[in-house]
Amino acid sequence: ARATIGLTGLATMGRNLARNIARNGHTIAVHNRTTARTTALLEEYGDEGDFVGCESLEELVAAIERPRAIVVMVKAGEATDAVVDELVPLLDADDIVVDAGNAHFADTLRRQEALAAHGLHFVGMGVSGGEEGALDGPSIMVGGSDHAYERLQPVVESIAALVDGTPCCAHVGPDGAGHFVKMVHNGIEYADMQLIAESYDLLRSVLGLAPAEVADVFEEWNGGDLESFLIEMTADVLRHVDHESGRPFVDVVVDAAEQKGTGRWTVQDALELGVPITGIAEATFARSLSGHTEQREAARAVFATEPVTLDVDRDTFVDQVRAALYASKVVAYAQGFDHIAAGAEAHDWDIDLGEVATIWRGGCIIRAQFLDRIREAYADEPDLTTLLTTAYFADAITDGVDAWREVVATAVRAGVPTPTFSSSLAYFDGLRREHLPAALIQALRDNFGAHTYARVDRDGTFHTRWAEDGRPEEQQDD
Ligand code: NDP
Repeated sequence: ARATIGLTGLATMGRNLARNIARNGHTIAVHNRTTARTTALLEEYGDEGDFVGCESLEELVAAIERPRAIVVMVKAGEATDAVVDELVPLLDADDIVVDAGNAHFADTLRRQEALAAHGLHFVGMGVSGGEEGALDGPSIMVGGSDHAYERLQPVVESIAALVDGTPCCAHVGPDGAGHFVKMVHNGIEYADMQLIAESYDLLRSVLGLAPAEVADVFEEWNGGDLESFLIEMTADVLRHVDHESGRPFVDVVVDAAEQKGTGRWTVQDALELGVPITGIAEATFARSLSGHTEQREAARAVFATEPVTLDVDRDTFVDQVRAALYASKVVAYAQGFDHIAAGAEAHDWDIDLGEVATIWRGGCIIRAQFLDRIREAYADEPDLTTLLTTAYFADAITDGVDAWREVVATAVRAGVPTPTFSSSLAYFDGLRREHLPAALIQALRDNFGAHTYARVDRDGTFHTRWAEDGRPEEQQDD
């Protein structure tokens, strides 16, 4: 056995991850169900490092130093179960199976328990950065035992993206913690992209800018607080002209957004935990709405109207949209970090939120300068109640709130849907409001269902005798 690590599943992601590992000086044993992929990797990239090609899982297992570490990078779901089931009887106590695919964290919890019964370690490793990141340095979120992380650390730290000399890789917690954090990362990615899309729509629809002009605006924004991979890419994409038709590329793409499901998982889990991740939820629903083409056609046929032209000053509006985008982004990230904190509590994971912000600064899709601010906020105050109230973000929101309201009001008047801008503003207003109408909801619940309520003037649980004398009576806790 001479390989430091093994990897099975050599499609786009696995092949690039294997090359990244080999390029960083680790001997890697590689395998794929269909051997042609293994052969192709060795032929095309065999000289990039020390690969050991294996035609079977038995060969793969035999090629790796013990305790073995084997990365599984196959299609998420049943394929992962099939490969893990095949591997288990071939392994010895203390060996480590790493699922680097996009698994749901609940599957990772289940697999971890099953492997623990065999004396094996199962690691759920969230990898973000797409095809390019896998090759040049992704952001890596590892969930697993200390034993497993110690074994994997030299390899994963060497292949991760680097920011200020710090690898974008961390042992975020045990078992499902890595895939959980990756799931929320993807949820935040949904919100980030939707916010960008709403900004683009406003600049185009309200100001009448052409895509290339909107690209200029995004390029300028990328020079400031909004600097990020997605903002930069938006400028490139909006400037791109379709080779076939000569039209702006964005105009030849069908306006129905797809999703592979990680946004949906994030929202489902947040509903379970009772965390209001409204930005991520609206972004996920906006994709669903875009895909309901029949309903959209039906609604257009009945409600289509001439676009409303508003008398808006271009420079002022551009700056207002920038402020609204930034404030909404702060809300989306604050909600995402709340979600991770709630998940950590529910599953008894000790997740360091500052560390999560640190490893998202590079390699992943949501990488942004902004994350350094989040890292600093948690460094100053690890038990932060909400990111919104930390000095830097509180200032950004206070400075931008008037513009934010103006943009949402303008969008409403112009009939441009901005679900994520609007819901983020509503979330902010909800949090800072002294009195919420939830009092009325409690009163109604007590009236129709005797659900009881708490009073502002004394402790206890009360129910009003609505049908009798209308007086409150204190309820005794059982
Ligand atoms: P795919 O998800 O397309 O999966 C293809 C690979 O899975 C092939 O190696 C295939 O082998 C193997 N496979 C499928 N079914 C089985 C099975 N029953 N038994 C054994 N092997 C099987 O590959 P990707 O590279 O796109 O993604 C790999 C993983 O990484 C997925 O979980 C994905 O969600 C995740 N991921 C992907 C990202 C991306 O940007 N694409 C980003 C981050 C994570 P064969 O060649 O024999 O068919």
